[in-house]
Amino acid sequence: MAQPQDTAALLQEILTSVKSLKLDHSQLAETVEAINGRVNILAGVKQSRDGIVHDAAVPSPRIPPMAASPSLQPMTSSPRMIPKGHHSRESVSSIDGFGNGHSQSTSPPPRRTSTAHSKIVITTHPEQADPLPNHWGNGDASKRGPVVVSRSPSTIRRRNAIGAHGGSYSIYYALAVASQQLNTDHKPDYTNTEPAANIGPFPAWGDPKKIVAMDPFGHLAPWLYKDIIRAENVEIRPTIAVTRAHMKVPELEEAVRKGRLVPDGRICINSQGELNVTKFAVEPVWYLPGVAERFGIDEGTLRRSLFECTGGSYPELVTRSDIKLFLPPIGGLTVYCFGDPVKMSDPNVKLALRVHDECNGSDVFGSDICTCRPYLIFGIEEAVKEAQAGGSGVVIYFRKEGRALGEVTKYLVYNARKRGSDKASEYFKRTENIAGVKDMRFQALMPDVLHWLGITKIDRMMSMSDMKHDAIVQQGIPILERVPIPEEMIPEDSRVEIDAKIHAGYFTTGKVMTFEELDQVHGRAWDDVDH
Ligand SMILES: [Zn+2]
Repeated sequence: MAQPQDTAALLQEILTSVKSLKLDHSQLAETVEAINGRVNILAGVKQSRDGIVHDAAVPSPRIPPMAASPSLQPMTSSPRMIPKGHHSRESVSSIDGFGNGHSQSTSPPPRRTSTAHSKIVITTHPEQADPLPNHWGNGDASKRGPVVVSRSPSTIRRRNAIGAHGGSYSIYYALAVASQQLNTDHKPDYTNTEPAANIGPFPAWGDPKKIVAMDPFGHLAPWLYKDIIRAENVEIRPTIAVTRAHMKVPELEEAVRKGRLVPDGRICINSQGELNVTKFAVEPVWYLPGVAERFGIDEGTLRRSLFECTGGSYPELVTRSDIKLFLPPIGGLTVYCFGDPVKMSDPNVKLALRVHDECNGSDVFGSDICTCRPYLIFGIEEAVKEAQAGGSGVVIYFRKEGRALGEVTKYLVYNARKRGSDKASEYFKRTENIAGVKDMRFQALMPDVLHWLGITKIDRMMSMSDMKHDAIVQQGIPILERVPIPEEMIPEDSRVEIDAKIHAGYFTTGKVMTFEELDQVHGRAWDDVDH
């Protein structure tokens, strides 16, 4: 038993040590925070002290050694420092950062005073989370693991993907939450939402080189991973949905009337040209190392560019090198399949395919400045005929409006064309002058959906685009025949577009014009139009 004076001295000694430790710790924490702030500023993240108060209960984040080149930081260098059950900084944050939000925490919510603010998470680091494993490219769904992106309170620490569900519609989700019309705790009820057609599995589903831009198990996610959903209390959503429908297009009624299309009561149902179709809606899920490889760039460069060019919206692209998946805020695609979907992957029957990029003005509203709707209709008609002949017909519709430059840029280009001399010889230059490039559709990721559908060859490709052709062939899918749009389907005012494209190398079975001839192809000027 120690003497009282000895005890006092011992206590004093311990107290001094503790004080020193505390000082060291706070200095260390301050230093780390200062470095963190500078790193974030370098990475383009501006921290507002008004909005951010760090959680003192959690150690300051370790700075990743290569923030700008996250691909260099292996997953194994990110030990989990937070024991399971301990709340990370993520899980104690409110949603608005100004004390007005709903606490998503099991901890008591922060008090609302003039000096104390609730917390907003600018980013996370690998030590702060416990992501569910995902081994992209494993063909066994249970070994591959689910795609988990939800920030719902029960799931936020288990995320293995950056971004959000719904592509660009994630912003509407944000509005619904912000205006308190949607509770983030809402649990989707997927009763009877299962795919309306079976698809796969195909060997490509287990090849990390062949599918990098969508989740091959995305249509089955809630059912494949129901045990994980239940056991781990995490939210796992589908990124693909498959349904069946009828469709009616006026041009196809005309096709029946003119005898080009013959109703069979099955695929083309009646004399109105009504069609039976199976539709697959696909949201993008990017495996970042694979996407980078397709573009011939390193993953760090891709991550940094995505971070910076989205206004710094996804800082985890640079701080969470352990997370390899990204659900980008872009539109997806829809597959329209005519005939039995099983035939798409049957190498013994013919496949007709149109890969179409969105052009709302023409596709929906009938603008005659381009060949988009006529080519789309031609694609549908040929797809139906192929299916009726015992093969398969597929039209894939990508949300890449205006060559993925968007409609505003597109209309600016129209103005520049119509106010100038709308010549085929200057067609691409007009776009390049405004956008800096003539096309941003980058077809490199497009063939993924073909692999997913089990397509191994294309008998008839309704497209003149060299970019689409080359991207598909480079992915090991041969195209046996390329079919240009028939002359009689080309609107007069769209000659400028189609002739410019043919001159630039688009496929044609017809004549390629000389530059001099191209210079003579003019579109309608505005003066011809009654406003
Ligand atoms: Zn168009």
